[in-house]
Amino acid sequence: MENMALQNAIAGIGLTIIENRSRANVDEEMREDGMPYCKKCNEPLLLKLEFAEGMAERLGKTRYVPRNCACMRVMLAEESAQYEAQKRREEVERGSEIASYSYREQTFSKDDGRAPKIKRMCLKYVEKSAEMADGNFGLAFVGENESGKTFWASCLANALMEKGETVMMIPLKQLIDRMNKNFGEYREETLRKVRSVGFLILDDYGAERETDFSLENAFEIIDARYCAKKPMIITTNLTEDALRNPSDIKLKRSYSRIVEMCPAIVKVEGFERRKEIAEAKKKALAEFLRG
Ligand SMILES: [Zn+2]
Repeated sequence: MENMALQNAIAGIGLTIIENRSRANVDEEMREDGMPYCKKCNEPLLLKLEFAEGMAERLGKTRYVPRNCACMRVMLAEESAQYEAQKRREEVERGSEIASYSYREQTFSKDDGRAPKIKRMCLKYVEKSAEMADGNFGLAFVGENESGKTFWASCLANALMEKGETVMMIPLKQLIDRMNKNFGEYREETLRKVRSVGFLILDDYGAERETDFSLENAFEIIDARYCAKKPMIITTNLTEDALRNPSDIKLKRSYSRIVEMCPAIVKVEGFERRKEIAEAKKKALAEFLRG
């Protein structure tokens, strides 16, 4: 019985290898030594096994079993790498949340070259994502509406995910609403995610109404992240000066945390730049008309 099981196991392995052989489209030829060889890599496709006495009684003295040639080993390694990469992508998707489709759409490839310094910095951030996570290093993109803050934060979110990092990107206001939905039913779950995700990106910080209620909630989110010692990235209409010197004592708690958590405050000036381009264009037209 035991003998049978061993025979079956060997036969099973052999079948798998023969299957690999056909998937890798191995072209074989018989050579003078009576063994089949792979025409491409010149490796034999059978392995000669010789058994010592005890085993020989059960399996025969010599036995030929199929083996993987170099071409098949390369194919198997590629398949396993693809499988691992797919598994990792699925894990990243499961562990991440990108709250809107418009965030998903923004990638570095869509950059129009208006802010090369910011782009370079963002690319470096992604390249060093492990160090950024270890050092709990966040960013604050500050600037007026339509300046491109959200564009850069979205590019970061997508590139970080592409690299295998988990990301949560969401407008702060939406996060606060979720925490309080159904009398706080999702509060703990939401805060757990805020604490656990690799990179948290809060879009449009400061756009929520400054009621005591929303200030309290915003602080709770920021504090949860602060205590988890993980990086936070924000976009905000607030100026660096306003963040460093809040006008209202009630704002101070959150702002001082942000300044501490986001040591790089990046001013995005797309709006100004667009205005400049428009003005340059007008000037050129005026000159053209004057001849
Ligand atoms: Zn081969």
